[in-house]
Amino acid sequence: MKTNFKVLISDPLGDRGLEVFKKEPQIAIDVRTGLAPAELKKIIGNYQAIIVRSGTHLTKEIIQEARQLKVIGRAGVGVDNVDLEAATKRGIIVMNTPEGNTISTCEHTFSMLLALARNIPEASASVRQGKWERTQFMGTEVNGKTIGIVGFGRIGREVAVRANAFGMRVLAYDPYIAKETARQLGVEFVELEPLLKEADFITLHVPLTDGTKNLINEKTLKMMKSGVFIINCARGGLVDEKALHDALFSGHVRGAAVDVFETEPPPQGSVLLSNTPTKGTLVVTPHLGAATQEAQENVGAAVAQQVVDALLERGIRNAVNFPSLDFETMKVLKPWLALAERMGSMHAQLFGGSFREISIRYGGEVTHFNLAPLTIAVIKGLLTPICGETVNYVNAPMLAKERGISVSESKTTQVEDFTNFISVEVVMDHQKNLIMGTLFGNQDPRIVRINEFFLEAVPKGEMLVIHNEDQPGVVGAVGTILGKNKVNIAEMTLGRVAKGKKTMAMTVINTDQAVPPQVLKELKEFPPIIDAKVVKF
Ligand code: NAD
Repeated sequence: MKTNFKVLISDPLGDRGLEVFKKEPQIAIDVRTGLAPAELKKIIGNYQAIIVRSGTHLTKEIIQEARQLKVIGRAGVGVDNVDLEAATKRGIIVMNTPEGNTISTCEHTFSMLLALARNIPEASASVRQGKWERTQFMGTEVNGKTIGIVGFGRIGREVAVRANAFGMRVLAYDPYIAKETARQLGVEFVELEPLLKEADFITLHVPLTDGTKNLINEKTLKMMKSGVFIINCARGGLVDEKALHDALFSGHVRGAAVDVFETEPPPQGSVLLSNTPTKGTLVVTPHLGAATQEAQENVGAAVAQQVVDALLERGIRNAVNFPSLDFETMKVLKPWLALAERMGSMHAQLFGGSFREISIRYGGEVTHFNLAPLTIAVIKGLLTPICGETVNYVNAPMLAKERGISVSESKTTQVEDFTNFISVEVVMDHQKNLIMGTLFGNQDPRIVRINEFFLEAVPKGEMLVIHNEDQPGVVGAVGTILGKNKVNIAEMTLGRVAKGKKTMAMTVINTDQAVPPQVLKELKEFPPIIDAKVVKF
């Protein structure tokens, strides 16, 4: 049979991955690992797909030469080594394999936990130095102790299963997961604060987002029991390393196990690593969570199958930048997809919380399209600030279902104030919020309503959203606060509604620079302002 496609494998794939291609006579592979960037740039134009791990960097310059490329497959999760924007611009699907390393990372977490509890690294080093210090390395049983799992996704759940088997009491905190899921697994769902206060072992399994950055900091460390153990096998940046270092030195934290760092590899003079804690124990590994033969094989086999299926048009799985659509429809739908995703993201960033129901209403011309990808785009936008890079067009609906979020979609041909629109209402435990968007000239996305406020905001870059009493001087004061902090206003829109004797306003400002947290705080302290939030796209 004629070979139709050529796939370049530029990082080691593993035997199971290579096996997948042997069954596909239409696809030929070239395994060329360790290519210099210049060499890769020269040859990439010959291939329809490329498979990488983290070693190959697919920069804009290289992608520009990828004239025939349809698919980039990443064996693993993070796609930081791929210029997503450049790939998307060229219509190249980028796919990852978010599920393959769950068990390995969970097992590493548990190894770290037990290593801490029984002082294994120190005791091992001591024996190798010819010592026999049995009292110094007195350990802690984990049986009967409480473990607090922060983030109850794929890995968090596997950790819970193992913790139960070890006789531990399991607490979990994840505001985006249905409580029933936890109950079925024998886990008590609690808020973050009680978890921090009650747990003997705290383990992190959340993505790094604006909401989770420095989740473990001086303040949250103080809430924890004296003698607590902390394990981070999720992402560097979730823990303030200086605060952890101080807590280890004081002995408030009895042990910390860290697989991931703010900067990797940690620089010379890293606060966490440069001084050995006198009281607490520190166990560190060089980002080994997924580093097992099995995980590497799993993700290799998964990516190979995904690339084969995409090339042979059997379906697209785990695409991080594309829904499964044919090219012509894609062209028309693209601006709608961008609008829908931004509306979801705006909901999550403005209103956060545990979503229960998403109702999406489509009106006017947009109803002629296949609406499924648009609904998925809303869900993807909504979940990305919560779940990070692992959400994609394929798994977004499944993730919503897992979280107990119901999604409904309706059409109206009735033309309201706009010839076409998308309206997204999200119901949470104690409130519901609505955002409505449209395209101007079939191209330019606009947010035209936030709850009762009608306005005309451009959802791009940095947006400051202010809810305030409509009084003289508010706009001037906001301008002054932003101006003195060197934040330039690019565009501004305002919606107003009379409420009893007062008039309330929603002001949306696009800024050229990011609004720093202290500026946001200053704005919120200005009395007519009820709330101010930053939304980023
Ligand atoms: P997942 O998406 O399945 O689960 C993450 C969970 O975190 C979700 O259920 C989400 O609802 C929850 N969450 C989001 N924000 C939260 C918050 N503020 N508070 C509490 N919960 C919150 O992801 P996963 O596959 O379980 O991965 C978990 C983490 O482990 C990720 O950061 C991932 O990057 C990391 N990871 C590390 C390694 C390694 O080598 N060390 C390997 C794989 C994954």
